[in-house]
Amino acid sequence: MVRCPKKTPRELLILALRWSVAAAALAATSMEAADFRASRDRMVREQIESRGVSDARVLAAMRKVPRHEFVPEQWADAAYEDHPLPIGHGQTISQPYVVALMTELLHLSPGAKILEVGTGSGYQAAILAEIAEEVYSVEIIEALAKESADRLQRLGYKNIHVKRGDGYLGWPEQAPFEAIIVTAGAEHVPPPLIEQLKRGGRMVIPVGEPHGEQSLLLVEKDIDGTVSTRNVAPVLFVPLTREPAK
Ligand code: SAH
Repeated sequence: MVRCPKKTPRELLILALRWSVAAAALAATSMEAADFRASRDRMVREQIESRGVSDARVLAAMRKVPRHEFVPEQWADAAYEDHPLPIGHGQTISQPYVVALMTELLHLSPGAKILEVGTGSGYQAAILAEIAEEVYSVEIIEALAKESADRLQRLGYKNIHVKRGDGYLGWPEQAPFEAIIVTAGAEHVPPPLIEQLKRGGRMVIPVGEPHGEQSLLLVEKDIDGTVSTRNVAPVLFVPLTREPAK
């Protein structure tokens, strides 16, 4: 026979209090989650759809990924506003509209293997991973590479691979890629990235003077390997830095 020790009234009271604290915390968490969900829906409607992004898969990904998890805690309430935010180490997470626009320009197919240069917080990688098959992302700052890899693992993304390195050089072991996205401003399109782009593939990359305004370029490699470039919009990104020569 299992004997259940009888609880004293005081123990019962403590137990009841514990339960109500836990229930209140749970209710607060789900209210917070609902608030963030509403903010995300509004972000997509007012900042993204209204400016002409219409790819249903991109809009669904932007509605789903919890952007507030990718910014420092003190910025969580600003995560769904119409501007970039600091993520530490002098770097920023891009404005939501720019993330959506760049993703749409890639014309991702569900089976695509993608390269991202500039993991930062991991937010853009998560958006890509909602749509494509595998995402390979390179980040030059060690601490950011580690933080974003941990964050993406905690959020359950199994199809994102983060490595620390100089993304100017791409990720040759995983090439070719159907799509390449560079989320830091380069002075020119890195030749290794053109090399690693699959025929029929697309790359988006901001190019311009360091710390000046850049042009968002769409680079397309057609089936016979011819490369063409189109200027899409003026943008402002943190600079693509290079590893010091050894
Ligand atoms: N995509 C990110 C934002 C990127 S900010 C996000 O969604 O949060 C640009 C990032 O590019 C920074 O984290 C910066 O450290 C990184 N970076 C700059 N030069 C790089 C290089 N050569 N290789 C890889 N990452 C680079």
